[in-house]
Amino acid sequence: MTSLIVPPAARIVLATHNAKKVPELRAILGEAGLDLPDGELVTSGEVGAPEPVEGGVTFAENALIKARAVCAATGLPAVADDSGLAVDVLGGAPGIFSARWAGKHGDDLANLELLLGQLGDVRAEHRQAGFVCAAALVTPEGREEVRLGEMRGVLATAPRGTNGFGYDPILVVDEDPRSADGADGARRTAAELSPEEKNAISHRGKAFRALAPVVVAALGSAAV
Ligand code: IMP
Repeated sequence: MTSLIVPPAARIVLATHNAKKVPELRAILGEAGLDLPDGELVTSGEVGAPEPVEGGVTFAENALIKARAVCAATGLPAVADDSGLAVDVLGGAPGIFSARWAGKHGDDLANLELLLGQLGDVRAEHRQAGFVCAAALVTPEGREEVRLGEMRGVLATAPRGTNGFGYDPILVVDEDPRSADGADGARRTAAELSPEEKNAISHRGKAFRALAPVVVAALGSAAV
């Protein structure tokens, strides 16, 4: 069994092994009035918390499973997220299976190509989809909160763009900030947005921003 190393200053744990999520959550909590310097916001990867089996059947359940496990292991409030692509004409699939739609976990290219093939005959007006994210907070006192965020769009017939990851190159986003201001009518895929543009409208950004006031209140009322 691995032993946990939780820094003494730690006040909250983000359940992820992807350190890139930390600046995004820190910035969003900062906007909500909570500044957490290095050492106060840590990740489950850094402290060595085990990864639970994501056995839920919804994004919210899986986010809660991860947050509960990290909270139980560390004794600290924990935030977790779970996300994926939900395609309307597929009844919300790939959904929680987004990361392993083609069989192998995390094979982004195979997942995207399989999905494009499945939708080969689906006309433009029926290609609506959205990235969905559930962000969960679990506290040692037993408080559990979940907030959802969504970034809607239409699925392209071929990938475009090199930013982002996963299905980004095939989701033409509805809320493209560039077409909204009338400067350019061309709508872009999520992989053609800059990271800043994507964060401003993304499912994860929306879910975290909705959860932030709850996190601020929970940490504010916890003994420090
Ligand atoms: P996770 O829950 O953040 O690990 O995401 C699970 C899977 O959903 C990823 O492997 C991607 O296939 C897909 N996904 C989630 N968020 C995004 C996104 O922002 N862009 C593209 N694909 C995403």
